[in-house]
Amino acid sequence: MDQNRLRIAIQKSGRLSTECQKLLKGCGVKLNLREQRLIAHAENMPIDLLLVRDDDIPGLVMDGVVDLGVVGENVLEETLMERQAQGQSADYSVLKRLDFGGCRLSLAVAQEFDYQGPESLEGKRIATSYPWLLKRYMDRQGVTFKSVMLNGSVEVAPRAGVADAICDLVSTGATLEANGLVETDVIFRSKAVLIQSASTLPTAKQQVIDRLLPRIQGLQQARESKYIMLHAPKDRLEAVINLLPGAERPTIMQLAGESNQVAIHMVSGEDMFWETMEGLKALGASSILVLPIEKMME
Ligand code: ATP
Ligand code: MG
Repeated sequence: MDQNRLRIAIQKSGRLSTECQKLLKGCGVKLNLREQRLIAHAENMPIDLLLVRDDDIPGLVMDGVVDLGVVGENVLEETLMERQAQGQSADYSVLKRLDFGGCRLSLAVAQEFDYQGPESLEGKRIATSYPWLLKRYMDRQGVTFKSVMLNGSVEVAPRAGVADAICDLVSTGATLEANGLVETDVIFRSKAVLIQSASTLPTAKQQVIDRLLPRIQGLQQARESKYIMLHAPKDRLEAVINLLPGAERPTIMQLAGESNQVAIHMVSGEDMFWETMEGLKALGASSILVLPIEKMME
């Protein structure tokens, strides 16, 4: 592998892979992703991608095998605790919390379980893929339990008689419900993060990171922002602007051939709700457009 190319580990296939690829593409990184390949080379920037299982990503970063990685905080924190317990190196830094991969790690029990709080799990068996995160939570609650390590199908463990409760990732709760389980305690909230290895990088690599970060920031900010355009009667201008979400410096332009009408353009960091649009309309505004923004740089 070329030592001057920035190495980034992302999940090969799973819940984070599409978003990771979208993120890199949005940053202008041209990828040639052929299936079944461990490594993909960017065509237009000195970047190599390592496509791996998400569980391997924190270790690859902490061991300095790759420079950057994108992984869920759940996997990151679990790996961190495990490595610290085993005396392995566990240094890294978080470059950016990303706006995808949101989920929570929760305790859940069967619907018929008489749950009165974590103490109801005293001495019980809990199936999980996150024994360290679970233990930290239960230690804080002062509850002892038996951990049943499962790397998949955790949600069927109670019905299969393998465990009394589970500790698993939840996003909508549909999987829990489908398995007759009820969520009882949220023990960890997670999003995907971009992390960097602790080793000092050669200038060339650092320069690539310095270019990527503002781009990621620009993409996230754009996703949260809207471009708003509308026409408004001049004499209601103040009332109209007061209704606009986060209007700091709107552009106001005279409409050709309409002495009492102006066009207002602005970038808003908030979404515009139908109710606001109806309010604007009631003030005499018209041609109200809310547009998505693809990229932005301040
Ligand atoms: P791999 O084969 O790479 O090990 P995996 O099966 O362990 O994949 P995925 O199910 O693809 O992992 O989830 C990857 C990450 O996506 C999780 O660790 C978590 O951070 C995040 N995630 C977001 N929502 C959910 C969810 N509802 N269930 C599970 N993970 C979720
Ligand atoms: Mg995994």
